[in-house]
Amino acid sequence: MTSSYFIIGPALISFSGGRTSAYMLHKILEAHNGALPADVVVAFANTGREREETLRFVHECESRWDVPIYWVEFRDAAEGFERVGYNSAARKGEPFSALIRKKKRLPNWQERWCSQYLKVTPLQALAEHLGFAPGQYSEIIGLRDDEGMRIFRGLEDAEKTGRRVVYPLARAKVCKADIMTFWSRQPFDLKLQPWEGNCDLCFMKGRGIRKRIIRQNPARANWWAEQEDLTGGSFDRRDMIADLVGEIRRAPDLFDPVFEEEHDAECGLLCAAEAAE
Ligand code: SF4
Repeated sequence: MTSSYFIIGPALISFSGGRTSAYMLHKILEAHNGALPADVVVAFANTGREREETLRFVHECESRWDVPIYWVEFRDAAEGFERVGYNSAARKGEPFSALIRKKKRLPNWQERWCSQYLKVTPLQALAEHLGFAPGQYSEIIGLRDDEGMRIFRGLEDAEKTGRRVVYPLARAKVCKADIMTFWSRQPFDLKLQPWEGNCDLCFMKGRGIRKRIIRQNPARANWWAEQEDLTGGSFDRRDMIADLVGEIRRAPDLFDPVFEEEHDAECGLLCAAEAAE
């Protein structure tokens, strides 16, 4: 029987920088005896608000496993993306800021177009640049078997838009516990808690989590607050970032309740940029 991880090209493996998609990449490499076919490529889309730990993890995967990874970022230009690398990747939110300037408003809980523009579109633009015709290549996405609704919605969306999506982890019945067991046995790991992945203060993260992240490093709030100032909008329907910062200043020891599902930011359903799982 063919392995769930054997990929027939042309295909683009979407690597979110989280543990799940890194596990998937590892299994795919194993299924191909350590080297991918020329028409199967791996790509990571950097928003500029990823944590340094995520960037280092992506870099460790590519160097330790000897697999080339295309690093791409959104650009407001004809090609729609630019190739970068570990050293040159944006770390101050530059691609995200450029997108906000272009759209003249903020993404928010209702209009989550940032994942489309910062993650999905640059990956699709890269595929086109590599000569993969739209709808004629497979997008390999790291959704697990225990992410049922996301898989369902991803398939539904792919059908509507004429894309081919493949979920090897779901096919192999892999769940979150399998991923964590795998990483507990590796010589390296993503040095982030599950709620710390994706954009550092993503508005899809729960309020308690965002406050916890700000409390740990208040400077993380600066870029987000600045975008709210510049646009006069807010990322979240409940509070401005400045409100969260103010609450923390007033009651630095008051920890808000954090619910397990709150960290599951679900950025880029299509590109499966899961949190740091
Ligand atoms: S992690 Fe959140 S803020 Fe960042 S691109 Fe995804 S949805 Fe948008």
